[in-house]
Amino acid sequence: MSDAITILGCDGFIGSHLLEYFLANGNKTIYGFDQDTRRISHIVKSDKRFQFFQGDIYLSPDLDRCINDSEVVISLAALCNPSLYNTLPVDVIESNFNNPVKIVKMCTKYKKWLIHFSTSEVYGKTEASLHCDSYDLHCSDVIMKEDQSQLILGPVSAQRWSYAAAKQLLERYIFAHAIQYGLHYTIIRPFNFIGPTMDFIPGVDGDGVPRVLACFMDSLLNKKDLCLVDEGKNKRVFTYINDAVNAVKLIIDNKQNSVGHIFNIGNPQNECTIKELALLIIGIYQHLYPDCDKSLLNVKHVTAESFYGAGYEDSDRRYPDISKIQKATGWVPAVDLKTALTETMKAYMKKYASR
Ligand code: UDP
Repeated sequence: MSDAITILGCDGFIGSHLLEYFLANGNKTIYGFDQDTRRISHIVKSDKRFQFFQGDIYLSPDLDRCINDSEVVISLAALCNPSLYNTLPVDVIESNFNNPVKIVKMCTKYKKWLIHFSTSEVYGKTEASLHCDSYDLHCSDVIMKEDQSQLILGPVSAQRWSYAAAKQLLERYIFAHAIQYGLHYTIIRPFNFIGPTMDFIPGVDGDGVPRVLACFMDSLLNKKDLCLVDEGKNKRVFTYINDAVNAVKLIIDNKQNSVGHIFNIGNPQNECTIKELALLIIGIYQHLYPDCDKSLLNVKHVTAESFYGAGYEDSDRRYPDISKIQKATGWVPAVDLKTALTETMKAYMKKYASR
């Protein structure tokens, strides 16, 4: 058996950053699977340690062999963009449950360590939002703890929660395989990772509504108002991709402490409302481009239904307890929100400004 790493979804935002990290550090063979090469085309043929298999991951004749030849399988491939939850709900459920089920079975069969990327959205709405002010940090129900928090989703008609429900069922399916068949697993719940190459600009290299940061970049690039859904009152914790990659590295380095656990990966220091995010982004933009036309940098209020369509419901807040991963691996997020946004925005401007 080799000590190779298989990355499923290696052309995605997180997968491509992990791939670059593993190729720049260490000497392990990396098997990568993805249908696309948008982010990794510069690597595909240039690094002998990287073997890339392009196409439908789950139909690949090489998947079985590569998983069997690996020490760790990192599973990332999924549709995970909120605008798809109520426009392509069947595809969202299939890509987040039906397809990765095959990977759980293969890892169980070959006794491989599965590091599965779930989502912070499995927590759903905060318990606090049901009975007290979810923005009061002293309300203990606000803090999301891997092994204690309730997972609270809305009704079936609110399709927003189909993604979280599929992810949650897969977590339970993985856990069940550990109990029944001894699968070695680690589940990661990411809290809004941001960084260069995340998402797309609509009409340039993708269609539909990307996540909030890319929406705001689209607005800046195309001189449109930044849209605040439901007054931008919901809160998120934004985590820089380099911190996230470091967390995965530490998990792999601390296998003993990491197998059989679910970990939040998020930077609680970087919490803000979406309105605060918009204003911060406008401020950074003005700093980066002092000659820009400031009269064009505005926010506007929109309803969730007009922005996303029917069936959208929001997570009011996602605030992680990260003591578990800190204790298991020593991980501490280091990149503050302003730096994370500045680096991400610079990368966006470099890539898209001249198009
Ligand atoms: N949002 C917004 N304006 C936008 C895009 C998103 O106000 O142009 C809000 C959205 O309603 C949610 C938050 O920003 O409250 C984060 O949305 P995102 O799509 O980034 O992902 P989520 O954290 O909900 O999974």
